[in-house]
Formats: sequence, C-alpha cells, structure tokens
Amino acid sequence: MKTSAQIRQDFLDFFRSKEHKIVASAPIVNKDDPSLMFTNAGMNQFKDYFLGNKTPDRRRIADTQKCMRVSGKHNDLEDVGRDGTHHTMFEMLGNWSIGDYFKPEAIAWSFEFLTDKMGIDPDRLYATVFEGAPDEGVPTDEESRTEWLKVLPAERILEGNKKDNFWEMGETGPCGPCTEIHYDMRPQEERLKVSGRDLVNIDDSGVVEIWNNVFIQFNRKADGSLENLPERHVDTGMGFERLCMVMQDKEATYDTDVFTPLIAEIERLTGHKYGGSYRPEAKADMATRVIADHVRAVAFTIADGQLPGSGGAGYVVRRILRRAVRYAYSFLDQKDPFINKLMPVLVREMGAAFPELKQQEGQITKIIESEEKSFLNTLENGLTRFANLDAQSGTISGKDAFELYDTFGFPIDLTELLAAEQDLKVDIEGFAAGLAAQRARGRADATKVVGDWTVISSEDSTFIGFDYLSDAGAQITKYRTV
Ligand code: ATP
Ligand code: MG
Ligand code: MG
Ligand code: MG
Repeated sequence: MKTSAQIRQDFLDFFRSKEHKIVASAPIVNKDDPSLMFTNAGMNQFKDYFLGNKTPDRRRIADTQKCMRVSGKHNDLEDVGRDGTHHTMFEMLGNWSIGDYFKPEAIAWSFEFLTDKMGIDPDRLYATVFEGAPDEGVPTDEESRTEWLKVLPAERILEGNKKDNFWEMGETGPCGPCTEIHYDMRPQEERLKVSGRDLVNIDDSGVVEIWNNVFIQFNRKADGSLENLPERHVDTGMGFERLCMVMQDKEATYDTDVFTPLIAEIERLTGHKYGGSYRPEAKADMATRVIADHVRAVAFTIADGQLPGSGGAGYVVRRILRRAVRYAYSFLDQKDPFINKLMPVLVREMGAAFPELKQQEGQITKIIESEEKSFLNTLENGLTRFANLDAQSGTISGKDAFELYDTFGFPIDLTELLAAEQDLKVDIEGFAAGLAAQRARGRADATKVVGDWTVISSEDSTFIGFDYLSDAGAQITKYRTV
C-alpha cells in the first residue's frame, strides 16, 4: 500500500514527467487579497495568469496547495466530522495549463495518472461533463465527452448542470465547463445492482468526487454575456486526502495515514478508542474526527502567519479552535488544554512536506495552548448558561445567543451546533442585530466574500438577506453594494 507521502510525490513526479514546473503551495492565508480570507483552491495563486495580468515563466505548472473551506463561496465546516470526505483544511493537488494544452491532454493525463500510475480500477471511475446552457449559447461539452469515450463506457459519462460543471471566477471574468472524476466507493453487490445512468444523484450515492478539471475558455462580460477567450487554460484540483482514501482502500479520509497517526494520538491522550462510527449518538468518534481535522486547520494557518484573533480571518481561526475545544471538553472529557498536545505528531507526519510547521512548532503550540486556556476559562460557565436558557419556543433568542458570544466567547456557529444537538433553532437575525449594534458602537468591519474574487465593500452597502459567513462565524449578512 502506498503511503500518503508517496502518493503526493507520485502526483508531482507524474506532472514533472509531462513537463510541468513544480511550484510551492501558496500560504493558506491570503494576506494580499482582501476579497478572499483563505486559499480555497489551487488556482488562487495563478489568478492573474487567467486574467491576463501576468505571464508565467512556464505554461505548465503543478503543485499541492494547502486549502481551507470555511467561509465565503465554499463553506464545508458543517460537514466536517459528519462525513468522511470534507475537511476544513485539505491539500488540493493540481496541474495547470496557461494557454498551453487543453481538454484532450488534461483528460488523458488524469486518466493515465489514476489508472496507470495509481493502479485504480477504471471500472470504478465516472466522469461528468457539462450538459450545456442553450440560453447562453454554450453547447454540451462534447469535446470532453469525446475524450472520455476513448477510455470510459458511455454509461459512466454523465452530464452535470451549471452548479457542478461550470466554473466562474466571479460575477465577471474567466469561466468555463468542467469535467469531474468520481470514484465508486460502493461494495461490489451494490455496484452491480445500480450503476451508470441509473444513479439518480452521483453525489448522494456512494460515488465520491475526487478530481475536477476546469476548462477556462470563456470570459463573462459585465452585461452577463460570454465571449471566447483568446487563450484557453486548464485548471485542475484533486482532493489529496480523498485520493489517499481511494488508494488505501478506506471508507473515509480519516482511515488513511493522513489522519490515523493523529487519531491514534487522540486515543492515547484521551483513552477513547476510535470506532469509526458516523451514527449521531457516537459523539466521541465524531469529536475525534473533528479534532483531527481542526488541529490541522489551526496549525497551518498559524504557521502561515494568521493568529487567532477577534476579527476577520483571525476570528475564523479562533472559532475553529473553539469548536475543537468544545468537542474535546464535552465528548472526550478533556477539561485542560489538549489540542496543542497533538502538535508533535502533526509535525512528525507533515513536517517534511510542509517545513513551515516544523520551523514554528514551539510557537504554534504555545499559541494554541493559550487560546485553549482562555476559552476553557469561560466554557464551563457558558455551557451551564446554555443548559439553563429558556428555549421553550424551540428557538434560542438572539439576545441569548449574543450573550453567549459576548460573555462566554461562544462563536455563533458553536451556539448553533449546541442548539442543533437538541433540535433547537437559533434566532440568527436577532443575534446579528445584537452584533451590529455592538459593531456600530465599535468599528465597522464588513469585507465579505461572495465569489472567488468578488469584493463586497462595507461602503454604501445594503443588507439583503442571510446568506454566508461573517466574522462572527455564522450565516449572517449579505450585502449588495449600491
Ligand atoms: P464536493 O462536491 O465534494 O464538495 P467540490 O465540488 O466543492 O467538492 P471542487 O471545488 O471541485 O470541490 O474542488 C476540487 C477537489 O477538491 C474536489 O474534487 C475534492 O476532491 C476536493 N475537495 C473539495 N472540497 C474539499 C474539502 N472540504 N475537503 C477535502 N477535499 C475537498
Ligand atoms: Mg464542495
Ligand atoms: Mg462537487
Ligand atoms: Mg467539484
């Protein structure tokens, strides 16, 4: 069985052999781009190439990119721990063509890598291609289908809609169809029963998306219309942990060697034996997964210079850490700082691929420990307060949620999580009002992310509804600049 380190290396070596330049991951924290707090895809650092603002010294590039999807357009936080495929922080393996090769090579190489190099059974692969958008004059992506038909049977090439198979950088700018590669995780009996076109919904059927190949060929203009780009590009992203899951024949990413050393350390420190259960009542198993996930997110962001704090990206880091602390406290009986104790194992496992972790190990450990300490000071009282709230209506009032936030340091998503565990709702609107009132008294801070690069500024903006994450960590305000 290949180790995760070997798999990562094999990917980079494969694309090096196809004349790609291997570059370093960009930082996971996006200090230079006010519109995007965290890197959420491999292509972020190459955005200017696609926009034509810069020319790369090499037209073929590959890397592994540290990504985080906890805010803005991609927010997977609620899935973390509940499923075995979504993380806060993950690595995205990617290869790019900046005006060089296009669909035939990209698809052929994806298939070659997965089947020849990785030895994955081609009979378990599915591809999706864009069904087209006739109203916009975009035809079905027959070019991709033609390539796939060379290696896959027609019944395992499915058509997908705009949501899954058409990528746009923002409201305007580069965009195009994508083809996604999925792996059938189901046992053989089930595969024999239902397969191919009979799968109703590929994402809900035990078939897991592993690799997205985006073909950037259009430019969306301000009036909404599309024009062909003079140069066409390829942008791909494959979930490294998911690839390891497939390669190591596991049911979840947590069962691969990316996570098992961390989980073993959590078991050793807490005495809880991880059982790999996803049943809602298996809280300690869920907590184990959440902690194994969150410690990576927190350690990697601190290593890249984003400390936990009270606003912006810092607050996102803080609430991820607080979420981990609460899981450890409630379900693994950890009443003292604990998350920081996972650092030696994390560094031992990831320090070779990401030396920044190793270099700052002491510092990161101290920061996590002091954050843990300060939250643990109020956590117990906050949980007692929460248990005594009047929620007879089935909803926790905005005022109470704001008190938990303000007095006990509970990020709103933590309150929502606690509420959901008891089938309660939270009056988010009321909470937002409390927060806004506090903000009005303090500073104004409302940089929001809605697309991959759409900056929504706080100036002259109008509240238009609840849609995505704010600094306070909940689905709060959606603004439209007027
Ligand atoms: P999904 O549908 O599973 O949420 P996605 O379509 O949002 O994935 P893409 O934006 O296409 O993901 O990203 C490219 C690849 O990155 C995916 O095919 C998947 O393998 C991986 N990936 C995406 N989100 C996550 C995540 N939260 N954790 C781990 N891997 C992820
Ligand atoms: Mg997603
Ligand atoms: Mg998807
Ligand atoms: Mg996708």
